[in-house]
Amino acid sequence: MAQSDRPLITFICPDCGSDEVYSDALAQWNPETWTWEVTSVFPKGDVCSPCDGPTTMVEIELAEFIKLTEEPSDDLRSEA
Ligand SMILES: [Zn+2]
Repeated sequence: MAQSDRPLITFICPDCGSDEVYSDALAQWNPETWTWEVTSVFPKGDVCSPCDGPTTMVEIELAEFIKLTEEPSDDLRSEA
């Protein structure tokens, strides 16, 4: 599958809706690219930064996430 055919998705915290979530993973150093490459992601061990604790991140379409994050500012504009 070409990269452009992939749906744009992201992962969010179901409690606060933030995308500042991190996954517990194993990384291996690649001496050729000078980067840590993730070799596997643990099924448990998700962490949410705003909640400052463990979470179980959920998959969401990027367009849907952008819509969710934009809604509060739209409400403020209709109030004025
Ligand atoms: Zn959270």
